[in-house]
Amino acid sequence: MSGCIFCRIVAGSAPSTRVYEDDTLLAFLDIRPITRGHTLVVPKQHATDLDELDHALGARVFTLGHRIAKAVRRSDLNADGANLVLNDGRAAFQTVGHVHLHVVPRKHGDRWGFATGFVLRRPHDTESTAAAIRAGLDRLETEERETRA
Ligand code: 5GP
Ligand code: ZN
Repeated sequence: MSGCIFCRIVAGSAPSTRVYEDDTLLAFLDIRPITRGHTLVVPKQHATDLDELDHALGARVFTLGHRIAKAVRRSDLNADGANLVLNDGRAAFQTVGHVHLHVVPRKHGDRWGFATGFVLRRPHDTESTAAAIRAGLDRLETEERETRA
């Protein structure tokens, strides 16, 4: 869908700070983050909302959001938790018509920072933030490998 900003990000014709990518999914930093590390997980194939999204692909989107929530806990962002939110449809405040799962890192006692971040939505240092999340994903993989061994 050429008019879709997230399709353009997937295609690389619009800029983004990428956190993770595979054949079917892309995760990148939200341009107006609520907290540092606020990430969007999208299916590469365009689907406007959950009504259009294949169930299996939806499960993959959630799995990656789940992994990123674990990664930010293991990263230098030092998250203690995360809000995972998917606004499905304009009635639910979806503003970009390409399914996306928000992963918003949270810390204990960050209520004030979260509230101001929600209003201001200012970007943080994007490259170091994405690098920290990627390092958290690497740590998660290592941990999983060691648990299996
Ligand atoms: P929604 O309200 O649809 O769930 O959220 C859309 C999100 O996409 C918002 O948090 C907004 O900041 C983010 N967003 C909108 N346009 C762009 C863009 O061009 N690049 C990135 N990285 N994020 C975007
Ligand atoms: Zn799209």
